[in-house]
Amino acid sequence: MTNSGILYIVATPIGNLQDITQRALDIFAQVDLIAAEDTRHSGLLLSHYGIKKPFFALHDHNEQQKADLLVEKLQQGTTIALISDAGTPLISDPGFHLVRKCRQAGVKVVPLPGACAAITALCASGIASDRFCFEGFLPAKNKARQDKLKNLLKEDRTLIFYESTHRILDTLADVELVLGADRYVVLAREITKTWETISGDSVGNLRQWLAEDNNRTKGEMVLIIEGNTTQAEEEFAPQAIKALQLISQELPLKKAAAIVAELYGYKKNALYQYGLDHFN
Ligand code: SAM
Repeated sequence: MTNSGILYIVATPIGNLQDITQRALDIFAQVDLIAAEDTRHSGLLLSHYGIKKPFFALHDHNEQQKADLLVEKLQQGTTIALISDAGTPLISDPGFHLVRKCRQAGVKVVPLPGACAAITALCASGIASDRFCFEGFLPAKNKARQDKLKNLLKEDRTLIFYESTHRILDTLADVELVLGADRYVVLAREITKTWETISGDSVGNLRQWLAEDNNRTKGEMVLIIEGNTTQAEEEFAPQAIKALQLISQELPLKKAAAIVAELYGYKKNALYQYGLDHFN
């Protein structure tokens, strides 16, 4: 351990190049090697700061194999800075396997704090910041995305997601469907860049407003959703309750509960009880 090098985890800007720290620049100047996701992209970034260093490519597809090689280099005394394309490495970016292996091997890991889109967006959202959960990217497919949101239906902490231009409207449609049209959300777009926009409204209204002009969904974005602030009766998705109500007007409640349970994956007895408590 004593002769081994150090792995520095270094955050880089998420848009505004002035958001680099002095300590990050000092570490870049000191290290032997910079491990980066996209070496061309990071080469341009570092040349902006006048830094020229050997790079090592470490991305999602090769991290598991290459991490061993980097640990070996560290054990031989090489000092390495790990960066990602933007923001904090490991946060929806590579680095976790490398850090874990370093710690298992007794190699010192030193984190350098800096930009992170999730935290930066949260700070400007006006949504509760005392308790939150970061969920990274939602699944791309509707069914999986809705299932994920269903699991978060009762979550009372603020929810933070990364999202992309081409999926944001579909995602908001699913949020509306599963969490209800009234749930308050904030979309923080192009943070620290020229077209930075931070917009908050009920998910129903925000989705409509975004759909009116595709400039409103361009660029990089963080979606922040207010936690569930209502009590136990919000246990079921609003559309499941609606379905239960409609079907129970045509069929016995027991039958309606069984159908809705099948459709939405809830327990039929719980739905039946809900119907008894609320519909009569
Ligand atoms: N490690 C990064 C961090 O610390 O924020 C995140 C990497 S993740 C691969 C990239 C996602 O972060 C983007 O798709 C977007 O959701 C979000 N993001 C990155 N930069 C952003 C910015 N300037 N404004 C809004 N969201 C941003």
